[in-house]
Amino acid sequence: MPPTHLKTKVPMSDKPMMREGSDNPDLLYLLQGAEDFSEHVFPDSEPLFKSLAHRQTPHTLFITCADSRISPEMITQTRPGELFVCRNIGNIVPAYGEMLGGVSAVVEFAVLALNVRQIVICGHSDCGAMKGLASGATIADEMPTVRAWLRNAEAARSVVLARKLEEQRVVQAMIEENIRLQLTHLRTHPAVAGRLALKQLQVQGWVYDIGHGKVSVFDENAGAFESIAEARERLQQK
Ligand SMILES: [Zn+2]
Repeated sequence: MPPTHLKTKVPMSDKPMMREGSDNPDLLYLLQGAEDFSEHVFPDSEPLFKSLAHRQTPHTLFITCADSRISPEMITQTRPGELFVCRNIGNIVPAYGEMLGGVSAVVEFAVLALNVRQIVICGHSDCGAMKGLASGATIADEMPTVRAWLRNAEAARSVVLARKLEEQRVVQAMIEENIRLQLTHLRTHPAVAGRLALKQLQVQGWVYDIGHGKVSVFDENAGAFESIAEARERLQQK
């Protein structure tokens, strides 16, 4: 049986991306989806949703890009209630004290109130934010907030530029270096540092390859990304 979140009245692959014939086809499409969920998906998994009605005990904080092509529950095959999710442009975690805002609050709440046991920072292929940074293009003046936000990845850009890579390798290097940087930022958060010291928390960096449906995992000791099979073996040896 497919996980709850994958079930739809219409198989995902056959589902039209949008309904035509209205002034507002996107909104109607969403409303139709919400109705389909209530009528067809919810009843099949009612015990699960009832068990979640008044409490959540997610095991993982999953921090990823806002990019529409990433579906955290789908790529991890988890059910509602398992992942506490934080999304933003570029899967960024500002270092503690730099920008106390949404991400810092999510991290603190997930660790101290929800007692998550893992934090995954997941970047992805073809990331617009990383492509923008890698190209060195000046983010348009009409997007001052995006420009300010991406300063939290500036150190990753400096590292990649210093390596003087061939052009076709720069974006992937930027995506990977950003994961490494954001893991470093994550550890500056007091809640994270405390739980790491007690060995009650693990942090991991991933890159999701959209076109191949594959996740690679950052091995901090080796300083390199590895396959899921390699990561599993490494974790099992611990
Ligand atoms: Zn992205």
